[in-house]
This record gives sequence, structure tokens and C-alpha cells, in this order.
Amino acid sequence: MAVFVYAENINGVYKKAAFEAVSYAKAIADQAGDTVTAISVNPTDSSDLLYKYGASNVINVKDEGLKNFSAKAFAQAVSELADGNTIVFPHTTDASSIAPMLAVMKNYSLITNVLEAPESLSPFQVKRKAFSGKGFMHAKAEGSGVIITVSQNAFGVKESAVAGSEEVKNLSVANEDTKVISHEQSSGKLDLKEAEVVVSAGRGMKGPENWGMVEDLANILGAATACSKPVSDIGWRPHTEHVGQTGKAISPNLYIAIGISGAIQHLAGVNSSKTIVVINNDAEAPFFKSADYGVVGDAFQIIPALTEKIKAIKG
Ligand SMILES: Cc1cc2nc3c(=O)[nH]c(=O)nc-3n(C[C@H](O)[C@H](O)[C@H](O)COP(=O)(O)OP(=O)(O)OC[C@H]3O[C@@H](n4cnc5c(N)ncnc54)[C@H](O)[C@@H]3O)c2cc1C
Repeated sequence: MAVFVYAENINGVYKKAAFEAVSYAKAIADQAGDTVTAISVNPTDSSDLLYKYGASNVINVKDEGLKNFSAKAFAQAVSELADGNTIVFPHTTDASSIAPMLAVMKNYSLITNVLEAPESLSPFQVKRKAFSGKGFMHAKAEGSGVIITVSQNAFGVKESAVAGSEEVKNLSVANEDTKVISHEQSSGKLDLKEAEVVVSAGRGMKGPENWGMVEDLANILGAATACSKPVSDIGWRPHTEHVGQTGKAISPNLYIAIGISGAIQHLAGVNSSKTIVVINNDAEAPFFKSADYGVVGDAFQIIPALTEKIKAIKG
């Protein structure tokens, strides 16, 4: 029985989270001596992109009714096609709302935010993030099947090319409940949840007019920009950049926090970043306790100097 994976696309285009989920499914399939079947809804990208990470079958769902996202309708579509007992999702906003509905439909266990390849397949046991990233736990699935969501940037994207084949399935899942009221698009060039490097700033920046230097640093590093909650609440930055317990949870390789105090609610969304650099003029700022590297000083002097230095190194 194949390992199934939901290969999420955004407006038809696959993003890193889909490749990471396929890589994770391939790791399970290798442990089980099995193959991977990917399911995607109305993709425009080529299935070759999924073969590269180990999906040997790709089921492309064609359904006009699924042009607008609805967790229930998408769960219904995946439920009709995924007849294996292991189904992998990326832990994106959309996919992590499909997964629990599918778990109910199939009466499978659900383990969210997994961080590593499973410790065992029978019973299925795996390490996952708990308490908004403040802790870890080893979760064990019960019953006949398991649905997993893979924490973004945790397992990583791993190439494992296979010869693949594609199947097109025409469905017409009922999706009358969905009405699109507004659609907020991320303002940044890079998707915050997928970014390897994030430059984030808080109230210490004093006002929106000072964000140019934050963006300059982000641009030179090829980073996405983020902010603390009050900064987006006041309207200095868009809500799409808010990270933390009530914002986006991210785990980039490098998180640079400028003028952010490090409140527990902020840390909840960023503390699984691989390396944290904190720039703050208060040596007692709580964020320093979670930092790998800290700079005590005025952001208005440090950011331009850092940007110039990186520019010089990059030649
Ligand atoms: C239920 C709940 C949920 C919440 N969810 C979130 C969440 O998801 N995300 C989030 O971020 N917050 C969240 N908060 C708010 C959180 O508690 C903090 O209030 C918030 O994170 C503080 O934002 P800040 O660090 O930007 O501002 P401040 O706490 O005002 O800190 C500003 C920092 O900038 C430093 N600074 C000032 N000037 C300079 C300078 N020139 N150079 C360098 N550093 C300087 C200061 O020393 C200070 O440490 C939540 C709160 C609650 C109650």
C-alpha cells in the first residue's frame, strides 16, 4: 500500500513545503519498502517536480469546484483518492486544516507538526513540536491509519529522483459552502513560512519610516521580513508579517530579531529557528536568553553597518 502525500500548490505552483512533504513521505516509504503517491488539486506545474523528491505516482485532480479552497471539500477529494494507511501533509495553513477533517473522515490518528522521520512504523511513533514550539513530544499513533503534518523547514527538502507516472482524475466534489470574501496576499517577495533567512523587527524600530534599513538587510541576505504583533497591530507592517503564538510559526535556518523584547508569545512562533541572532539595546532583554548570538547596541547604528559589511563580503 503506497504512502500518500498531499502536494500542495499555490495557484497551481508547487512551493518548498510540497517538496518537503514528498521528501518526508519518501523517507517513510523507504523504511516500509513502499512507494509514494502524491495527490495535487488543479496543479499547473509539471509532475516532474514531484518525481524529483521521490513520488513515483502523481494523481492530478481536475475539479472546477475546487478552484476556491475549502478544507472540507479538499479533504473529501483526498479521501476519495488516498487508499493507503499513511497520508502526509505539509504543515501549511491550508494543509493543516485539511488534515484533521480527513482524519475524522477516515477514522485515522492525526499527528501534527512532526519534526523528524518516524522512530518506528508499527506502531507509528514520531517526534513532534508541542505547546506552540516550547517543547517536544514523542507521539504514538493508534488504529489502522495515520495522518501526519510535517513542520516546515524541519525535515528539509531531499532529492531522491524516481521514474514517475501521472494520472489525471476528474472529480466534482461539492463545494457550495465556500464564499471568498477577501484574499490577503503576502506583501513580501519571499514566502515567510518557506524562507531560509528571516529578518524581523519590533517596536524598537520606533516607526514604519525606519523599515527601509530592515528591508535593505533582508534584501542583501535574500531574506523574508517579519515583525512582532504590536508592529502589525499599529499598522506599521502588514499582518502577513506577524510571527508568534497568534501569528505565523516559522523555523528558518537564521532568524534575526531587531528591537524585539522576546516575549514568550513572540518566542512561541520563532524558537524552533535553527540559529537566532538578537540585536537589542537593552542587555537585559529576555530575547537574549534564547539567542545563539546577541548584539547589545542601537539598531539604528548596527543594521546599516551590518548591511554594508555583508555587501562588502559579497563583493
Ligand atoms: C494572548 C497574546 C498573544 C500574543 N501574541 C503575540 C505574537 O504572536 N507575536 C508577538 O510578537 N507578540 C505577541 N504578543 C505580544 C507580546 O506579549 C509582546 O507584547 C510583544 O511581542 C512585544 O513586541 P516588541 O518586542 O516589538 O515590543 P516591545 O516589548 O516594546 O520591545 C521593544 C524592544 O526594542 C528594544 N529597543 C528599543 N529601542 C531600540 C534600539 N534603538 N535598538 C535596539 N533595540 C531597541 C527594547 O529594548 C525592547 O526590548 C501577544 C500577547 C498576548 C497577551
